[in-house]
Amino acid sequence: EARVVLVSACLLGEACRFDGRSKRSEPVMAALEGKEVVPMCPEVGGGLPIPRPPVELSDGTGVDVWAGRARALEREAGVDRTEAFLRGARMALEAARKFGATVALLKEKSPSCGSQHVYEAGKLRSGEGITAALLRAEGITVLSDEDL
Ligand code: SF4
Repeated sequence: EARVVLVSACLLGEACRFDGRSKRSEPVMAALEGKEVVPMCPEVGGGLPIPRPPVELSDGTGVDVWAGRARALEREAGVDRTEAFLRGARMALEAARKFGATVALLKEKSPSCGSQHVYEAGKLRSGEGITAALLRAEGITVLSDEDL
């Protein structure tokens, strides 16, 4: 039973999503009762503004981005935001380590936080986002808000 949990800030009510809104989740709040919560938003942490153009993965999922085979591109304009996404993911990992979080509870379907599904070229597919892939590779248990 994890005591410290890294959590996507938007699930906690932080209005940090690309559209300037939050995704506050009551099941998430209930599941975190009694836990020490470490909120993080890798996209804002990586330097992107609120709101921001939506980004999708191109040519793969988060694992492929870390391997240099895929990129994170703005859906409309195609601007490459990969570096900001990688930076934000590393910051999320640092926060987990600093506060001793062994579990992360992340927002599904995000190109950063998705842990089971992400959008690639306009289509939902199975796979992880960039932050979820890094956390898993570093031994952190990643859970989805959709599992609650
Ligand atoms: Fe939420 Fe993660 Fe997107 Fe930030 S990057 S808004 S925490 S899903």
